[in-house]
Amino acid sequence: MPAHWLPTTGTDMTGVTPRKLPLDAMPAAVATITAWQQAPGQPPVCPLCRAKALTIFDRSARPYTAWFALSCGTCGLDDTITYALGGTATSWS
Ligand SMILES: [Zn+2]
Repeated sequence: MPAHWLPTTGTDMTGVTPRKLPLDAMPAAVATITAWQQAPGQPPVCPLCRAKALTIFDRSARPYTAWFALSCGTCGLDDTITYALGGTATSWS
């Protein structure tokens, strides 16, 4: 588990209790984002419940920081993940 993963507080715009990503779900979240970037036409799969009801917002401030807001209409996932670009994110090919 990369120590630089820092889950942050998301916003609740749906009325559903926001659900945060547990640290052990971060690799799945990265895989989801990577797949989404490589196949933008495909609906992203929620890293928690596997529903194709995930919304991803790329709020990255390139080339310095990656920010991705993830929200799932099925399980209530609502979280933002961030990490520094250009260094230690080895799961990015
Ligand atoms: Zn979900």
